[in-house]
Amino acid sequence: MQTQLFINGRFVPALSGETLASINPHDNTEIAQVSMAGRADIDRAVDAAKAAFPKWSNMAAADRGRLLLKLADAIEANADELARLESLDTGHPIRDTRNLDVPRTAATFRYFGGMADKIEGSVIPVEAGFLNYMTREPLGVVGQVVPWNFPLMFTSWKMAPALAAGNCVVMKPAELTPLSSLAIAELMAEVGFPPGVVNVVPGLGYVAGQYIAEHPEISKVAFTGSTAVGRKIVQASSGNLKKVQLELGGKGANVVFSDANLDAVVQGSAFGIFHNQGQACIAASRLIVHESVADELLERFTSLARSIKIGDPLDPSTEMGPLTSQMHRDRVLSYVDVAREQGGCVLSGGKAPHGAALAKGFYVEPTIVSAKPTDRVAQEEVFGPFVTVSTFGSDEEGLAIANGTEYGLGAGLWTRDLQRAHLFARQLRSGMVWINCYKRVSPGSPFGGVGASGYGREMGFEVMHEYTQPKSVWVNVDADIPPYYPR
Ligand code: NAP
Ligand code: MG
Repeated sequence: MQTQLFINGRFVPALSGETLASINPHDNTEIAQVSMAGRADIDRAVDAAKAAFPKWSNMAAADRGRLLLKLADAIEANADELARLESLDTGHPIRDTRNLDVPRTAATFRYFGGMADKIEGSVIPVEAGFLNYMTREPLGVVGQVVPWNFPLMFTSWKMAPALAAGNCVVMKPAELTPLSSLAIAELMAEVGFPPGVVNVVPGLGYVAGQYIAEHPEISKVAFTGSTAVGRKIVQASSGNLKKVQLELGGKGANVVFSDANLDAVVQGSAFGIFHNQGQACIAASRLIVHESVADELLERFTSLARSIKIGDPLDPSTEMGPLTSQMHRDRVLSYVDVAREQGGCVLSGGKAPHGAALAKGFYVEPTIVSAKPTDRVAQEEVFGPFVTVSTFGSDEEGLAIANGTEYGLGAGLWTRDLQRAHLFARQLRSGMVWINCYKRVSPGSPFGGVGASGYGREMGFEVMHEYTQPKSVWVNVDADIPPYYPR
């Protein structure tokens, strides 16, 4: 297990010698002490990335791609260890880290490995006598700051496109979950990424993260995290006017019409909110149900929620693990009181599970509460296994509730009516829409939000625009330009 900063191709302690404990949320024990980057360490990482940039950005794009492809293979070859490490550090059940997080991480590096030599410029039809072409150039050193909810996957989402485009990276993982990003850095060194191309610097958000956002020699900061910190990133970035990309919070609407297939709704909605203990920006955290099917749906949905197997993340039969930190668990549980204070009813869960085996861990039962659409629990991101239920009558009312928060990241709808499905998809104020499914992602499909959910897109060709800047080149291909100052 790597526990030091990865700078210029080597694992090194922080200059201050300071460390942070990484905790196993299943039993509140320490897994490791991890070096904690200060501002001087960020400077070292930026210097290394700057020095690596000329060679890396001028390397044949296919060769950069080949390294990413090799990394994807190495991730698959080490899948069991990576899944175990991620489960230990985050509390995600091993069945998910092994079957979803690790394969998706490899798939993302592989997709962008293939992308590296497919970012093309264009030739623009301009007036006769001139050739105008546009190339896409990398930005230089990019800073990346990520949260703790999918640390392994987000390492790939952030690094893969940046590297494919020819940038060098300084990435700060979340203080709670630095281990899998360091493991990826180790694999990168093994497969032959040149020193300095990637630097991983665990540390505190308001120190290391803030300095990455401020740093005068970082050309862009890509941030995934809360809306509140996103605003700070924008402010901190203003010194050198760096490019900013923000993947922020969400309050996913999950709208069920009267003609929906309820079997599919129950399964899809449970996955939408309880997978990863609800710690997902695209979680289906608001179930918005047509009044005619509400009773039947709720009976089935609460009964599934009560049957979800909670336990040790390393047990392959566990379906839900602990939340990633004690503080976060307490925050999620505090929303149960908030719901009750505004007249909400707890339909299922609402507390930590009983049992000595889970007593030291940060567990919360799958929680379903009724709420008015304007209640705090239906407006604020809880980021846990916590879903609000509201009902609607007309389609217009359903749409107004779905669009009635400051967020606009992911939203889902369930209906057999094709016309209604497409009409609703168009009217939802949301970066992503799922019809008769929820929370689907793919390395090729644009991912991101509108409103308080941020701006910019990850994935696909879209993200390559985020990590490159166009350069327009004019060539005089005709010796005779008409004189502008005839003499
Ligand atoms: P967070 O508190 O905003 O932290 C995210 C990252 O920012 C962490 O690495 C954190 O460091 C760092 N940070 C904290 N303060 C900072 C500052 N002043 N300047 C620069 N960096 C700073 O978010 P979180 O609670 O870890 O993660 C949950 C949030 O992420 C939720 O809102 C969720 O919706 C959002 N999220 C969004 C997406 C998306 O793609 N839209 C995906 C996943 C999660 P520390 O670790 O030291 O706090
Ligand atoms: Mg941990």
